Amino acid sequence: MAGVHHRRRHGGRATASRASGLEVQLPVSELPARGVGGDEAYDLISSELLLDGSARLNLATFVTTSMPERAARLMAETADKNMIDKDEYPQTAEIERRCVDIIANLWHAPAGEEATGCSTTGSSEAVMLGALALKWRWRARRRAAGQSTDRPNLVMGANVQVCWEKFCRYWDVEARLVPVEGDTLHLTAERAVQYCDENTIGVAAILGSTFDGSYEPVRAIAAALDDLEARTGLDVPIHVDAASGGFVAPFVQPDLEWDFRLPRVASINASGHKYGLVYPGVGWAVWRDRDALPEDLVFDVDYLGGHMPTFSLNFSRPGSEVVAQYYMFTSLGFEGYRNLQQHSSAIAQHLAAGVADIGPYRLISSGRELPVLAFALDPGVDHYTVFDVSDRLRERGWLVPAYSYPPNREDLSVLRIVVRAGMTFDMADQLLADLRSKTDDLGRLDRRLPETLAGGVRAFRH
Ligand SMILES: *Cc1c(COP(=O)(O)O)cnc(C)c1O
Repeated sequence: MAGVHHRRRHGGRATASRASGLEVQLPVSELPARGVGGDEAYDLISSELLLDGSARLNLATFVTTSMPERAARLMAETADKNMIDKDEYPQTAEIERRCVDIIANLWHAPAGEEATGCSTTGSSEAVMLGALALKWRWRARRRAAGQSTDRPNLVMGANVQVCWEKFCRYWDVEARLVPVEGDTLHLTAERAVQYCDENTIGVAAILGSTFDGSYEPVRAIAAALDDLEARTGLDVPIHVDAASGGFVAPFVQPDLEWDFRLPRVASINASGHKYGLVYPGVGWAVWRDRDALPEDLVFDVDYLGGHMPTFSLNFSRPGSEVVAQYYMFTSLGFEGYRNLQQHSSAIAQHLAAGVADIGPYRLISSGRELPVLAFALDPGVDHYTVFDVSDRLRERGWLVPAYSYPPNREDLSVLRIVVRAGMTFDMADQLLADLRSKTDDLGRLDRRLPETLAGGVRAFRH
């Protein structure tokens, strides 16, 4: 389980040699009686971290791996400000408020309504907040009507990111996972509605799916739910999980209606640290108007003599990410974001065309929605798998994950490439050349690779 560490039974030992040739020990389980001093600690730890993969070659993650040097400096300068101390750091709080307004406008929050929002640690926290608001509103409606409130459910595609299932488990909501089926690899309008009933707190629509970068048809889902309401009186709101798409669609597909232009969309989240172009971890949650965010979830803190509403699961965190988000908005502007995202999109489509050209691959997505492509091996290829291809690419330093789809398409395994700012056409061509040569090598094998190897790297969960 990532991040939950159990204490090692036997104290381990990590040794490193210093320049002097003497060996020193890095503490691994006990606080050392005497430290090695600041310079030594820096050298040792930065050397140890070289064992991590190179962030630039990490084509598995959606998370930002490259920022301008000035942004990094500003982040270092603001790491000591606690975001929660609105009183002590009113200007940081003001910057957060400006970011929320900028994002709400980017997502076409209705003029005249008071859109509210907040920064979060990432989309995971933002999703928890959005879904909590849905649960609270559903419960209030049911109570007012004298109906039971003990069996809430949430409708979403089985392709949701794990934070949605976490929400359901932590907050006692039934997760109604709509399976993927055939060539339909995400939620559709027709199927979303089939899973809704009087206990549905909302439908989660994803822009776009972490599996392949495809956008779920938010507009069609909204129309189908409008129709459901007209037929049955059931009023089911939508939360859009735009973790990645929230900072892509406004620039690359400006005419696509997926946001507050659709009255049924109650709330939206996005990860500032994905296509918002900030280092981890910052996310954003925005509600279309006051009604969408129940008041009793919001805590008021004093701020500059006024009130600052806060809604969060965490308390203390550094102000740096929010400041960095504001830096990116200010320095790039709409045009800068558009250029960068369109560039990523063009590279993803270039890669897709190149992959198709290599031969044994079938594209599942081709970079036309998120700048992401996913591709499977042709069914005729049976002596190696996408997991082997992923392993071979890793030998060249490329981290390209392979994974299987959720029920009912566990049979479908794909490789996925996420293109982000920092990737260039030259790097893309190098990757294509490496993919071609590794695929040729594997194609020349005259017998099937053993299963243990074909198991490959299955641990990617982004
Ligand atoms: C990445 C992602 C999340 C989780 O976001 P974090 O910012 O990493 O917490 C949730 N949903 C989708 C669709 C994602 O792509």
